[in-house]
Amino acid sequence: MKKKCEICGNEFEAVRDTARFCSDKCKKQAYRGSNSELEEEPRVEEGIKKKDLSKLSAEDLYNGISTYKEDKWIDSPEHEELMRRLKELSIEELEEQGFKIPNWKRMEGKEIEI
Ligand SMILES: [Zn+2]
Repeated sequence: MKKKCEICGNEFEAVRDTARFCSDKCKKQAYRGSNSELEEEPRVEEGIKKKDLSKLSAEDLYNGISTYKEDKWIDSPEHEELMRRLKELSIEELEEQGFKIPNWKRMEGKEIEI
């Protein structure tokens, strides 16, 4: 069925009758809310986003990453934040906060026998 996007006004072919937006881009824009000031300054928005991510618990980060479809999580800000913490924090700190420790992290600082 043809529907009109609530954000950009374009007509689009909707798979479900609950569809309200023509694209992921419009959907994201809609979920960002009606605060158009932020959209004019994407750098500020990004800064806020990163700040909020740094407060997330290990569980929140893993949950956030798991919500991405297919391999899109690789480029997600949650994954970026996870990698940042894996690199910056010690194994003890990571375990304390509930992170899963990847093998490369355990190998850090140890001599690898070939
Ligand atoms: Zn649209």
